[in-house]
Amino acid sequence: MLFMDKLQILEEIANEVKTCPKCRLAETRLNAVPGEGSVSARIMFVGEAPGENEDKTGRPFIGQAGKFLNGLLEKAGIAREDVYITNIVKCRPPANRVPLADEVEACSDYLMAQIAVVEPKFVVPLGASSLKTLLGKDMKITQMRCKVFRKSGILYIPLYHPAAALHNPKMVETLQADVLVLKELINREIREDEITDLSSVHIPREANVAPAKTEAENTEAEPPQTLTLF
Ligand code: URA
Ligand code: SF4
Repeated sequence: MLFMDKLQILEEIANEVKTCPKCRLAETRLNAVPGEGSVSARIMFVGEAPGENEDKTGRPFIGQAGKFLNGLLEKAGIAREDVYITNIVKCRPPANRVPLADEVEACSDYLMAQIAVVEPKFVVPLGASSLKTLLGKDMKITQMRCKVFRKSGILYIPLYHPAAALHNPKMVETLQADVLVLKELINREIREDEITDLSSVHIPREANVAPAKTEAENTEAEPPQTLTLF
């Protein structure tokens, strides 16, 4: 796609987002936050949702989490103006709660269109919500952070969310180390054997359900207690 076409389509998406009525977050937002950055970015960062400062200004990652992200980008040798930064939902959830499934679903066309237009080589989902939206709802950020996955020709490298890390020194340490790995990965060719197969981390539905008790377990169970009220 030509640079000018990309610029124009991203602007059209942004304009649509700014007046979007598709979910309840439209009722409480001050400003929608479409995203910003280079239209031909090699790397796209995808956060969760705008916070208070983002809602006030219409720009992504400009509050505390944004400042921390800027520091991480610097550590990785990445200029903020060279990447594209957006979120899975474009409007602030009240009191910064986690976006609900129907809100994420309502907003996902915009994110998918932004990815299709920018055509990044790497997408970096920041935090659990973004990871689950982009790679599947059973995905675990603790397990998948800093690994490389491929989906539809794009390489995904999930990281902890900077806001989640802010108040957790251990997570800050991990994120700072992960960003150095990210730096290394984006600056060279990724070998096939470094790409983790998405299907290998997929946790089957049944695994989340407690197994039915066997007969033996049932007989071992405590006998029902008689009421001792009287
Ligand atoms: N946190 C996010 O996930 N996105 C922002 O834009 C700001 C804070
Ligand atoms: Fe529209 Fe997304 Fe905002 Fe919901 S969060 S109103 S779908 S732009």
